Amino acid sequence: MRVPQFIVATSLGLAANAVIAQQAPIVTEAPLRAHLAFLADDLLEGRGTGQRGGELAVRYLETQAAIIGLKPLQDGSYRQSVRIEGSKLLPDSTVRFQAGGKTITPVTGKDIVFGTASGRSDVRLDAPLLFVGYGVVAPEERWDDYKGVDIKGKILVMMVNDPQPTAAEPNRFAGKAYTYYGRWLYKYEQAVRLGAAGVLLIHTTPSASYPWSVPANSFSHERFHLAGPGNPLEGWLQEDTARTLFAAAGQDLDQLRAAAETRTFKPVALDITLQADVHSQIRQVEQFNVAGIVPGIDPTLKAEAVIYSAHWDHLGIDENAAPGDKADHIWNGAVDNGSGAAALLVMAAAAVQHPARRTQIFLWPAAEEQGLLGSAAYVAKPAWPLAKTAADLNLDSMNFVGRTRDMGVAGAERSSLYATAGQVAKKMGLTLAPAVPDLSGAYFRADHFSFAKAGVPAFNVGSAVFSGDGYFDFVNDAARSRAKMVAFTRDYHQVTDEYHADWDLSGMLQQTQFTLNLGYAVANAAAMPTWKAGEAFGKVQR
Ligand SMILES: [Zn+2]
Repeated sequence: MRVPQFIVATSLGLAANAVIAQQAPIVTEAPLRAHLAFLADDLLEGRGTGQRGGELAVRYLETQAAIIGLKPLQDGSYRQSVRIEGSKLLPDSTVRFQAGGKTITPVTGKDIVFGTASGRSDVRLDAPLLFVGYGVVAPEERWDDYKGVDIKGKILVMMVNDPQPTAAEPNRFAGKAYTYYGRWLYKYEQAVRLGAAGVLLIHTTPSASYPWSVPANSFSHERFHLAGPGNPLEGWLQEDTARTLFAAAGQDLDQLRAAAETRTFKPVALDITLQADVHSQIRQVEQFNVAGIVPGIDPTLKAEAVIYSAHWDHLGIDENAAPGDKADHIWNGAVDNGSGAAALLVMAAAAVQHPARRTQIFLWPAAEEQGLLGSAAYVAKPAWPLAKTAADLNLDSMNFVGRTRDMGVAGAERSSLYATAGQVAKKMGLTLAPAVPDLSGAYFRADHFSFAKAGVPAFNVGSAVFSGDGYFDFVNDAARSRAKMVAFTRDYHQVTDEYHADWDLSGMLQQTQFTLNLGYAVANAAAMPTWKAGEAFGKVQR
């Protein structure tokens, strides 16, 4: 028999002389598969925000947290309240443009999508359009698209993504890669800060990195945002719609876009007005992050914590489906993110038995699919001081196609977590997957980003399914594994993201173990991780 490396804690709590687990405990596949199968079951109705299935998921996670022996993070409860607002556009809403003496009425869903984030059920607008390029204010890049122009009461028309590299400045705004300035979330936030009447983003598939169907689908359902100030009007214009509108007002879309690639660009009044009558069904919804802890056992370091996070929500059940319609209307979200939520339960169960020097927090954020709302609410009101939060290791959409020789750590290179991840990988006989430019802004599209934005070193461990071909070096049947992974891009955010009992979970198990091993390396290290010099998020006072 091997000598046990740990003194196992009793159910009554740890012995005072408990040995610190230098290595992470071993996780096993059976509970991982069981939690995943349950969370992805049709009974969970896709774990929708503001829906019954979401409530069931929270109830399940807090029950499991109690069974496992996690301690509640705050107030004796595993729940952290997240107050959000739901807004669903009603079909009698209208929008039209006056441009060059013409009335242009776009078709909602096809030419334009829009809604309100103001919390008001009736919004009436008669407002001029202002083209503001990328809508970016980035002092570190000496970039300001607004140039002090008063934008109060105007509808800002913007491009998605951020200023593109030039021959003279190949590295501006991270070159071809996305920065946060490129994300729609930044653009909406910026419009709120500036007091605009609204924002319309010009959609192109390359700039958004997804097709028109994605915003079209999103705006045809109830949308959510954190309770608080929001834009009276938010939406997207199909590129051709924008082109037609601009032309009617005597402007050329391509010329304006080219001008917006320069620092001398100034906002352009478009001589177009938007008249909108926006009717929405508004409701206040309380959602919950679920969180439990494994206290650290070093007298000093236990005041610091490592967070593991994985959102529990997905897109739910289609509230627009006609009663009796037999088609599949459940977005199960097996990969996204039943996988991560299940993995976190398995990691927590192992960690409870073998505490580390620092405290470990297991966090299941709510409403990630609605724009990282649960994790944003967490950092706005952290249950553990951010200054004493060492790192956030996030799991979102895990490997369901088999064991690999490498591990994806995109985003880790922004901090000292990269070096730690390299050491952990080596011990497991793995390599780190080669860095690829972040062309789709993946770093800004999962919950770890809420932590990064608040100054906590953070990344998503092994974001394989979004990274396209060639990311994972599969051990067995590489071509077949890769084909399955690439095929998932068709299931992403579709009702076909379902659990299959024949899935090979060896890769997911490996990814789970790697994440826990990395968490332990951080939890037991002499010092907390640090941002790389010059990294924008390193300047945030956490
Ligand atoms: Zn996700």
